[in-house]
Amino acid sequence: MKAAVYYGPGDMRWEEVEKPECGKDGVMVEVKACGLCGTDVKTYKRGHPMFKPPVILGHEFAGEIVEAGDNVSGFGIGDRVVVAPYVPCGMCGMCRLGQFELCERKVKLEGAFAQYVMVGREVMEKGMFRIPEGMGYEEATLVEPLACCLNALDDCNIRAGDTVLIVGAGPMGLINLEVVKNSGTAKVLVAETHEGRRNKAAEMGAVAIDPASEDAAGRVMEETGGLGVDVLIVAVGLVEVAERYIPLVRKGGRVNLFGGFPAGSKLAVDPNLLHYNQVVLTGSFGFTPHYIEKALYMISQGRVDLKGIITHRMELSSVERAIDLVLRQQALKVILYP
Ligand SMILES: [Zn+2]
Ligand SMILES: [Zn+2]
Repeated sequence: MKAAVYYGPGDMRWEEVEKPECGKDGVMVEVKACGLCGTDVKTYKRGHPMFKPPVILGHEFAGEIVEAGDNVSGFGIGDRVVVAPYVPCGMCGMCRLGQFELCERKVKLEGAFAQYVMVGREVMEKGMFRIPEGMGYEEATLVEPLACCLNALDDCNIRAGDTVLIVGAGPMGLINLEVVKNSGTAKVLVAETHEGRRNKAAEMGAVAIDPASEDAAGRVMEETGGLGVDVLIVAVGLVEVAERYIPLVRKGGRVNLFGGFPAGSKLAVDPNLLHYNQVVLTGSFGFTPHYIEKALYMISQGRVDLKGIITHRMELSSVERAIDLVLRQQALKVILYP
C-alpha cells in the first residue's frame, strides 16, 4: 500500500510500504479521509517525543472495513467507521483512578496517512464506532478533534452565563468556540491576529478581538464590565501569549492551556493570581473513547456545525504541500484523501 512516511523534521515521503496483516481478531479499514492535525504539522516541523521516525502520522480518520478477522463480531465488511487513534489500557495506575485520558499504556494504531489501517481487537472494541447514515467521511474526520475539545470543556467547568475568552482561532480554537458557544455561555471572545481566522471566529458568533491593532486587555475588561473573563482557553502553543492573557481571568476564574507547548518551556505566572485571586490553572490533552462517541453523536445530530473550518481538500500524496499551507496560515483544516 501507499503511505506518507515521516522520516524526521521536514522529511515526509509518499512511498510503498508493507500492508499490515488483518489477523484473526482485527479489521482492516480502508482510509477514506484523514484530517491534517496541528500535531502532525508540529511533528513535521520540529519533531515530537511521541513519534519516533520512521513512522506514519495521521490520526483523524474515517473509513470502510474491507477485511474482518474470523473472531470479529459486531463489525463486518462494508461498515463505515470512525476510529479513536488510541484507547486506554484499562489497567495502569491512571486508568484505575478513572482518569483514562491520562493512561500510561495507551494502545495505539499505526498512522492513517496511508491507504489502510489495521485496527486490532482492543481499539476495535473500545474505540471504533459506526458512522450514522447520512453522515459523510469528511465530517467524521472531525470527530477526534471535537472529542479533544469536549474533554477540555469538562476540564474548564463552564457554567451557564459565563464569558469565555479563546486565544487563537486556528482549527482547534474554532472547534472550541463552536463547543463553548453551545454550552450555555453568555459571550465568547476570541483574540486572533490573523484577519481571515478572526473573521471566521466572528462569523461563528464570537466577539472577535485583534490584539495587533487594539488594546486586547482593555477590550476584554470592557466586555466583562471590568471583572475579567470567567474562563480563558489558550488554543495556541506560545508561552508569551499565555502569559499575556492569564491576568485577564477574573478572580476565581479558570485557565485552560489547550495548545501544546514546546517541551521544557517555562511559563511565568504571578503566584498571587492563584493564591489571592484563586485562579485555577489547568490544561487538557486528548480524549477518551467516551468523548469520541459523544463527538460522533453531536456532529451527526447537527448539534455542532464544523464544516466551515474545512478550507482545503487535497490528495494524501500532497501532504507536505498541505502542511506548508497550514504553516503559512493559509489553510485552517485540510482533509486528505488517500
Ligand atoms: Zn488531532
Ligand atoms: Zn491505562
